Amino acid sequence: MRIDRIDLYHVAMPLKAPWRTAYGEDAAIEAVLCRLTSGSLAGWGEAAPFAAPCYSPEWAGGVFAVAREWLGPALLGADIASGAELQRRLAAFKGNPFAKAAFDTAWWSLEAQRTGKSLAELLGGTRRQVAVGADFGVMDSLEDLLAAIDGAVRDRFRRIKLKFRPGWDREMLSVVRRAFPHTTLHIDCNSGYTLRDLPLFQWVDQQHLAMIEQPLRHDDLSDHAVLQNVLATPICLDESITSVEAARTAIRWGSCRFVNIKPGRVGGLTVAREIHDVCRAAGIPCWVGGMLESATGAQHCLALATLENCTYPADLFPSERFYVEDLSDPPLVLSRDPEGCPAMDVLQRLAEPVPGRLERCTRQSVVLRR
Ligand code: MG
Repeated sequence: MRIDRIDLYHVAMPLKAPWRTAYGEDAAIEAVLCRLTSGSLAGWGEAAPFAAPCYSPEWAGGVFAVAREWLGPALLGADIASGAELQRRLAAFKGNPFAKAAFDTAWWSLEAQRTGKSLAELLGGTRRQVAVGADFGVMDSLEDLLAAIDGAVRDRFRRIKLKFRPGWDREMLSVVRRAFPHTTLHIDCNSGYTLRDLPLFQWVDQQHLAMIEQPLRHDDLSDHAVLQNVLATPICLDESITSVEAARTAIRWGSCRFVNIKPGRVGGLTVAREIHDVCRAAGIPCWVGGMLESATGAQHCLALATLENCTYPADLFPSERFYVEDLSDPPLVLSRDPEGCPAMDVLQRLAEPVPGRLERCTRQSVVLRR
């Protein structure tokens, strides 16, 4: 498929309630939407690295600039037959996985249009429905948290994930575990700790968690190997897995026993699927997370989660949880699996930005033409 035209949009999508992060509160999710046109077909992709370079070194304004100045021009006019070829053309540009993901996911949408297949089918997905979990961040009180978990347990979510950070860690987990002794729980530390916190993790190791997500530095693999070696609870790497090479190293060093894959963080679906395959060959199960993308980006996460080795319930949410109105349509909605637990069905039609909504959310845009 020859790329005839590229449209880029830097958007800010207003949230129902502010999103609390390590650096403060975001009232909107910033993302870059990319539309690739080939002849009469067009496909949309999305990268949501957030407004500030705090989840990773990338940020939405920077992704827009690198996409406009470097990645877009490298693809414009090129005939691209596969995701691997797109990645090869972008390989000269170091890093910038979120920016690359905007183009890579758009290419997969374009390929879905061209072939008439769903994204899940194109990727080789084996299920039509994906189990999803419930997530809870830092709350105003432990009572609020317990009430929220109680609601999720009654709603039959297959697992609960708890944000775990200094000031909201040992006491919080101890109270939750006491109240819910048999619930499948895991904690996400978002790189908030170091090996000096080993005694804390030895206590956590007694709490029968499904996994401990990203306890140490966002770019570390070696200290995680040291920690995993002394813990029975599996470590799951999230932020540290930014490429296929990072996944291979993590496996070789024994840095983790689970991998969370986010298409945006690793450079798109092409790389995400390869990481999935490398993990499957090593016997490491995966699961999928998102970055609060609109339905355009979330559908790529959902398609990835249909792959065979994605066995733990995904971090994917119905659009209405975060947005009054999803920028894209159709929105993501919750359904139920045959046992009555919350799940998501793969979309029957490609989600795309709705023109009026896109206009309202756009902070800057550019068209690259041949
Ligand atoms: Mg995480």
